[in-house]
Amino acid sequence: MLHIPDAYMLRWEINTECNLSCIHCCNADSSIDRSNPDMSMNDIISTVQRLSQEGLRRIHFLGGEPLLREDFLEICTLCAPFGVDLSFNTNGLFLNHRNILRKVLDIPFSSITISIDGVDPESHDTIRGKGTFHRVVNAIKELVEERKRRGEHRPLVVIQSTLTRLWHKRVSELFILARELGVQGIVINNLALEGRAKQHENLLSLSKEEEFWVAGKILQNAYEYSDLVIKSPFRTKVALYYRRALGIPLPGIPMNCPGAINSAYVLPDGLVVPCVVAQIQGMGNFFSKLRIQDVNTEALWNSAYFTHFRSIVHGPIEDVYKNVHPCNKCGFLGNLCKPCPLNLDPGADIVVSPCKLAMERLESCA
Ligand code: SF4
Ligand code: SF4
Repeated sequence: MLHIPDAYMLRWEINTECNLSCIHCCNADSSIDRSNPDMSMNDIISTVQRLSQEGLRRIHFLGGEPLLREDFLEICTLCAPFGVDLSFNTNGLFLNHRNILRKVLDIPFSSITISIDGVDPESHDTIRGKGTFHRVVNAIKELVEERKRRGEHRPLVVIQSTLTRLWHKRVSELFILARELGVQGIVINNLALEGRAKQHENLLSLSKEEEFWVAGKILQNAYEYSDLVIKSPFRTKVALYYRRALGIPLPGIPMNCPGAINSAYVLPDGLVVPCVVAQIQGMGNFFSKLRIQDVNTEALWNSAYFTHFRSIVHGPIEDVYKNVHPCNKCGFLGNLCKPCPLNLDPGADIVVSPCKLAMERLESCA
């Protein structure tokens, strides 16, 4: 049966180049070939126009650093009339230039996500480079202030942080910072041990116990700062443990994979894949390459790669999660929670460590 999404989104790396060399960057040295030229402005615009008539409803641009691409804002200006919701990720540094800040606010972005990887210069600058904490904090203040001056509620300003050992104990301060800066949301991601992050594993990576502890802190803060939109890979089993231990309610956002259902990922040269993790893992090596500029929605979603991805990731739960522990014994699996079943170490079992600890602790209290 054909799979044709009524509405879908693309996460789109619009360029490869970046003005920083963050030590946790998973784009660097990744197994994905980024040596081809970035798609041209004309190709991007005609592709977005065409796909907007075939169900494309949202694009979230990534990089590289999108604002480093000189025609990025022009591309967005020209794509906005196609009725596709636009948003992007940035390291924020270019927003310190008033002319860029004004141009950004002239485009109807629904949200702008700005990376802050720590709560002070010491933690953040170790990852992103000297002086960057103060510059990004200043950029966010300017953005929020200029938006207010214009009397606008959009774009939503969101900060995004990767949890590392450098600052995880102070995660509550991130919520205080978000409130002080006047942003609307926080995205907290776990570290992906890919690219440069692999070389700095000891400095950055959390132990299982630290991951479990910090999950409790995030849940507690998400409850206390309920006016902020908080996105973090909440695990229902961990939340259940903390509900019993601390009385925190379960978060309302279930984990569910959108890949090849209503979301796909575009690389700077136009290569389109169901999910970047699957591509890093090498799943795409067995299929012909699809370029977003050449393929229509129906052909893309029913391509051999997307169909294979769905059979692996969205197949029968008992098969997909056979070697994922403790999900294969968890009553939440398939209803409140469907964690990412992809493994960067193909063939090995996956252990969701915070849930394993939560399950052990829940069993010992029962
Ligand atoms: S399904 Fe897996 S990840 Fe989700 S709550 Fe259960 S054990 Fe945790
Ligand atoms: S397979 Fe995993 S990483 Fe890929 S889209 Fe699904 S949940 Fe996300």
